[in-house]
Amino acid sequence: MSNEKKQGECPKITLSTPVRFLKGVGPERSRILAQLELHTLEDLFYFFPRRYENRAPIKSVSEISFKEKECVRGVVSSRGFFRTKTGQSVFRVVVTDGKAHLFATWFHQPYLAKLLLPKSEIILYGKVEKQGRQWHMIHPEYEVVKDASETPRVHSGRIVPVYPLTEDLSQKGLRALLYRTVAEHLGQIKEPLPPAVKKNAALMDASAAFQGIHFPGSFEILKAATRRLVFDEFFLLQLLIQMRRAEVRKEIAGLSHAEGRAQVHRFIQTLGFPLTAGQERAIKDMLADMAKNSPMNRLIQGDVGSGKTVVAAAGLVLTAANGFQGALMAPTEVLAQQHYFNLSQMLEPLGISCGYLAQGFKEDEKERVLKEIESGAVQVVVGTHALIEKRVRFKKLGLAVIDEQHKFGVFQRATLKEKSNTPPHFLMMTATPIPRTLALTLYGDMELSVIAELPQGRKPVKTFWVDERRRGDVYRFLGSQLATGRQGYVICPRVDDKGEFSAKSVERVYGELAGFFKNHRVGILHGRMKAGEKKKVMQDFKGRKIELLVSTVVIEVGVDVPNATVMMIENAENFGLAQLHQLRGRVGRGEEESYCLLFSDSEDEETAERLRAFEAMQSGFDIAEKDMALRGAGDLVGERQHGLPKLRIGDLAKDVDILTAAKHEAAKLVALDPCLADPANCPLHETLAKRFGLTSKEKLTVTA
Ligand code: ADP
Ligand code: MG
Repeated sequence: MSNEKKQGECPKITLSTPVRFLKGVGPERSRILAQLELHTLEDLFYFFPRRYENRAPIKSVSEISFKEKECVRGVVSSRGFFRTKTGQSVFRVVVTDGKAHLFATWFHQPYLAKLLLPKSEIILYGKVEKQGRQWHMIHPEYEVVKDASETPRVHSGRIVPVYPLTEDLSQKGLRALLYRTVAEHLGQIKEPLPPAVKKNAALMDASAAFQGIHFPGSFEILKAATRRLVFDEFFLLQLLIQMRRAEVRKEIAGLSHAEGRAQVHRFIQTLGFPLTAGQERAIKDMLADMAKNSPMNRLIQGDVGSGKTVVAAAGLVLTAANGFQGALMAPTEVLAQQHYFNLSQMLEPLGISCGYLAQGFKEDEKERVLKEIESGAVQVVVGTHALIEKRVRFKKLGLAVIDEQHKFGVFQRATLKEKSNTPPHFLMMTATPIPRTLALTLYGDMELSVIAELPQGRKPVKTFWVDERRRGDVYRFLGSQLATGRQGYVICPRVDDKGEFSAKSVERVYGELAGFFKNHRVGILHGRMKAGEKKKVMQDFKGRKIELLVSTVVIEVGVDVPNATVMMIENAENFGLAQLHQLRGRVGRGEEESYCLLFSDSEDEETAERLRAFEAMQSGFDIAEKDMALRGAGDLVGERQHGLPKLRIGDLAKDVDILTAAKHEAAKLVALDPCLADPANCPLHETLAKRFGLTSKEKLTVTA
């Protein structure tokens, strides 16, 4: 049976049919298509053009104009081969409409002689240039007219899509494949949207949209098709978020933290500094959330150094006062230890017991801490990923805090909440300032508190992009800072000098600087060191036993050494704006003037724009906006970063109106049918599950 099938019969084509079963593809071509992540028929439909060319008016040779890109039709009146002085093979044809002539030239493409025959009618597309009195096209796209009345054409006489390419694949070949795909299999596209949503948002049909995005009949159709597909993408995302949100809002008896405000106020009195307005508001919002029976789901967004830890501590005090436990998870051992140290100092005097759980603990030590967590003897526990290991069970978890939440995947975040029988209140903190539109999408299921200001007395960090020729001056300046008792960081993009990549390494720079600053203690830190070694180096730096620390970006997150005043960054072109901002945030934490010095001799225009913007800007929010403008939102929404899939067509920076409409429609639908259980919403439910790789309903409701 299966043998027969292999021999002749085509498998029934569906959206999940592998591309190699499509007409004209086969194993060889399917391997090439796989390089573009095109595996199934559906992938082809979602392979959107990079841009379009308007080749709609096909002109005669007499009608074309100089300097324009034109689509021209004519007859080959003569043709020939020759070689240039440098030995290049050249094929040239003269095309005419009987009145005017156009020369078309190709290099290294002798096979064209078999295609563009004398007296054949051809269509060319390219830029028209002038050489003396002759009109030329160099390397135009060509098409042979087989049947003069042939309509519609694929490569000319229309708005033509231009697709992203890979080696071994020609634009024409790919375009022809897409054309066939759309022409033959458009019927496979099912309409996922309920009619009401389509009507309210004035959207065209799904199948018309796929036709229109690949081979639009006009620019109006292209626009409407794009709008429809962007809407779908945002709508599905919003639907997922809103469904999760509906789930989160379920009430849980006994979760309410109604007591303990007095203790929180007493705690704030002990701090020794007044809270900033942003901190106060965040704490107030948090306390109100935690007084409710439904779990809080709040994100604190505040620039580096804005004092988010204090807010978390206030929440931990409240949960302890209500007889619950609190947990704080940080992405690195260095950071977790720092939090443990600070929180113990703040909370132990109030009679709140704190514990620490490290991945590297010996078995008996770990056993002891796990018991204390399970029995409730420890009220606040701090740790890294160790906190979400299977064995960890809380007696009664009231508040789970995640610091630098963008460093954790969505499922790691969810796991911490599942460490107790009932879902706890949930607080996340991030120093990645996210533009409003992005926050709307990514954190649509969360409440948001923004701490917009830094504590008083913080000075902006003086930032300079310095020329390599001034390296001597920079070193002398660095020396003068070290001489007055300040400390500094030097960041390099890589650990050692192995491999092709030419940026400076920590090992090389450490060697140079240890030689240059003979009177100062220079240290080294990178991700390949053992956890114990890294810890020792950080302690020495905090304790001023190390004055200058040469490091990779392992230092990036959350480290707090107020005495450090210089941040020097080698090969700054290797870092994105967000990362540069994080790095700069390591200094400027004390009373003294601080400096950030960037070395880069990159001549890339975009790099220059980025570094100049960074020199001029201090606010994380401004930087995030700029970052988004430079990179496009796509990069910011990578799966690893936020636990959400990459957008295929929507652009969070540009499509705010569509996003808003999608959000609105999703909210309406979820209010009516929170689990999409209505049979009419079945296609939508299926599409949603498929798009986010979820198979069961249960998975759909995992909360971020
Ligand atoms: P981040 O938001 O980057 O996590 P931290 O919570 O580490 O910032 O706070 C940075 C430093 O600022 C800490 O040393 C903290 O004690 C201090 N700090 C926090 N809030 C204030 C405030 N309102 N006034 C003065 N200093 C503060
Ligand atoms: Mg922090």
